[in-house]
Amino acid sequence: MTALYSVIVALCALLLGGCLSRTAYALPRGEYREILRPKCHYCGRDLPMKYILPIYGSILSLRCPHCGEREGGRALASEIICALLFLLLYLVYGFSYLFFEYALLASVLLVLSLIDLDIHEIVHSMLLLVLVLGVINFVFSFFSFSLTDTVWWEHLVGAFVISLPLFLLMIFTGGIGGGDVKLMFCLGLLLGYKLTLVAFFFGIVIAALAAIVLRVAFGRGSKYQVALVPFLSLGTMIALLVGDKFLTALF
Ligand SMILES: [Zn+2]
Repeated sequence: MTALYSVIVALCALLLGGCLSRTAYALPRGEYREILRPKCHYCGRDLPMKYILPIYGSILSLRCPHCGEREGGRALASEIICALLFLLLYLVYGFSYLFFEYALLASVLLVLSLIDLDIHEIVHSMLLLVLVLGVINFVFSFFSFSLTDTVWWEHLVGAFVISLPLFLLMIFTGGIGGGDVKLMFCLGLLLGYKLTLVAFFFGIVIAALAAIVLRVAFGRGSKYQVALVPFLSLGTMIALLVGDKFLTALF
C-alpha cells in the first residue's frame, strides 16, 4: 500500500511543482491568472493547456512554439524537487498532520526560493503562511497538544536563536537581507530551537560551498550574489527529514 500511496503523492506533487513555479513568477508581478494558465515569459503569449501537464508539459515548454525562446528547465526542476520532497516527507511522516503541514511548508519555501533567485526579494504573503504554521505549532505545544517532542518555550527560543544574531549582523554590517531575518524568525517558531540550529547549520554550510564553487567558476571579481533563501529552505527540509537522527547521533 505504501508503494501505491508513494506514487500518488509523487504524481500530485509533480502537478503542484509546475504550479508553484508559475506562482513564483506570477506573485511578485500580481499576474495571478498565470498560476493556472501556462504562458511564455519571453513573448508573453499563452501556451496550449497541455503545457500544464507535469514533466511532459515542462519538457514541451523548454521551447516556446510562438517565439522559439528557451524557457529553461525551471518548471521541470520545480516539479522534480517538489515530488522528491513530498515523497521523502511521506516516507518519514506517513499520512499524518505533520506530513500535510511540512508539505505545505515545503511548497511555500520552494516558491520563496524561486522568487529569491529571480529578484532577491521575499514575498510577505508567503512568509505569512510560514508564520501562521509557526503560531499553530507554538499554540499546540503551549496547550500540550504538540505532535512533536518540542515544548512551547523551545518554539519561542527557536524564533530568536538565529533571527536575533542575523538581525544584529544586518544592523551592524548590512551583509544580511531583512527577508532572511524574517524567514528565520518564522521558521524558528515553527521548528523549535534544536531543529532551527540544525537547519541553519546545513543551510549555511551548503551556501558556503555554493559560494566557493561560484567564485571558482566566475572568478574572484564576480558580483554573482548567492541568494540565501534556497539554502535556508534546503537546510530546513534536511532538519525536518533527518534532524532528530542527526541530533541523536551528535549527542
Ligand atoms: Zn514565447
